[in-house]
Amino acid sequence: MLKISISGVRGIANQSLTPEICLNFAKAFGTYLKGGKVVVGTDTRSSSEFIKGIVLSGLISCGVRVIDLGVVPTPTVGLMVGELKADGGLVVTASHNPPEWNGLKFIREDGIFLNQSQAEKLIAIYQDRKFSEAPGGSVKHFSRAAEVHVSRVLKSVRAPLIRRRKFKVVYDACNGAGSLITKLLLTKLGCKVVAINADPKRPFPHGAEPNPQNLSQLAEAVKAEKADLGFAQDPDADRLALVTEQGVAISEEYTLALCTRHVLSKPGGGRKIAVINLSTSKMTEDIAKSLGAVVLRTKVGEVNVAEEIKREGARIGGEGNGGVIYPKIGYMRDSLSGIALILEALAASDQSLSQIIDQLPRYFMYKTKIECLSQKAAEDLLERSQEIFKAQTLDLTDGLKVYLPEGSLHIRGSNTEPIVRIIAEAKSEETARRLAEDLRSRL
Ligand code: MG
Repeated sequence: MLKISISGVRGIANQSLTPEICLNFAKAFGTYLKGGKVVVGTDTRSSSEFIKGIVLSGLISCGVRVIDLGVVPTPTVGLMVGELKADGGLVVTASHNPPEWNGLKFIREDGIFLNQSQAEKLIAIYQDRKFSEAPGGSVKHFSRAAEVHVSRVLKSVRAPLIRRRKFKVVYDACNGAGSLITKLLLTKLGCKVVAINADPKRPFPHGAEPNPQNLSQLAEAVKAEKADLGFAQDPDADRLALVTEQGVAISEEYTLALCTRHVLSKPGGGRKIAVINLSTSKMTEDIAKSLGAVVLRTKVGEVNVAEEIKREGARIGGEGNGGVIYPKIGYMRDSLSGIALILEALAASDQSLSQIIDQLPRYFMYKTKIECLSQKAAEDLLERSQEIFKAQTLDLTDGLKVYLPEGSLHIRGSNTEPIVRIIAEAKSEETARRLAEDLRSRL
């Protein structure tokens, strides 16, 4: 199945995502940018190098001067657009999708992904097939992107404070784009580093989403090594999850919650605002508010959070799926920003990760979905939900968010599939499940 949406193109490499589609999307992007300079990076999938070759051809045909960064995390591409004064960026990656998938993501000149109207314009060019051909296209290689990214991160935290603690850290990069850069960062932060699944030439060792189910190997290793904590990334290294010193893989929601708590406790660095999306746990919201910050919630979609952070001059933001955006470093979800902030938080405290976790407000999320026969049927379900909850406090920014005395419900359709997702959150697991399943049965 090929998915073309505001977050780019994704499909199974050489099947639904054909070479022709990749070529035409690259030409569409070159046309959209009217030539100029474009930074390109890839993740470690076996199809990425081949797709990159096609993409470079398409960009060159539009007169684009390409700077090829090689294998790098998605946020590194975003940051290098600014560093190299490029007009845009393109990443060959399917993020956390299974290994046979691949995709293209498009970045604009401020290092943020194309937003909805920009993506629609790009897709329209792709569909019209009126690509502009121009001479002057070229490819240059730039092999120091990882160092540039790491040095930006080091400048944005108190590196000497972290170094003094000589943390022992295990990380699992899923053999993805974080494999090498993460070791560089941790070493420069004075950590004793144990790397597992950090070989970009090998296939993904386990499910690619950094959620607790996929992190048993990391959890074991943290325990066996008696490490201070473990870090896990998805294959394009924008998302980050944590394992405590006790070898417990905790929900990805904690990553943003902890970074938000830490950044808002530090002096300075922008307006005291945290930007999160409507699906992010209330844990992060409670923490930010308790520190006197304003919390802004946006529609789901990284670009919506990033644009709001920039517009408001917020100190921090991101998504509950382990996506930390620290604007001092860049406007993309960045696992390396997350790693440095978590280590800085630990270095500034005399507590272990699990002791810090224990003090946080605790919520439980329960997620379910309803598969529909058509997009229309999915829209009908959303309307029926709105009818059911019409007497409650509702937020219609993105689907339907309902605030009930015992918890909240977020009901939203998917951009790419006829599915309605229901996310319930409450103070107990039982209540969260009941809220979601009650609604499900009523629909
Ligand atoms: Mg990702």
